[in-house]
Amino acid sequence: MASRTADQITLVASTAAGAVITYQVWTSDASPFTTSAVALFALVNLAWTLDALRRNQAKHTIACPEPGCDVQITMTGAKPAEQVRLTALATDHSRHGGTR
Ligand SMILES: [Zn+2]
Repeated sequence: MASRTADQITLVASTAAGAVITYQVWTSDASPFTTSAVALFALVNLAWTLDALRRNQAKHTIACPEPGCDVQITMTGAKPAEQVRLTALATDHSRHGGTR
């Protein structure tokens, strides 16, 4: 998932699901311990979601390993298939025009 809209939908859905589930448990006859545990799991889930979204947006720079070649490709939010293609392009010196 690479688009900002998809990330925003994921964040809103994760937050809303955690809030709704916590509210429903809180307003039921559940014990305070159960309510606290559900609220804690909702917070952990939200933290995990935020971390996943942050990693998804992180930049990755791949440099050519050939000595003397300055080619490097920086990817931000690239889909897995695109990451594989760009990594192969950056690390295979013969694919980006070098003759060394
Ligand atoms: Zn190269």
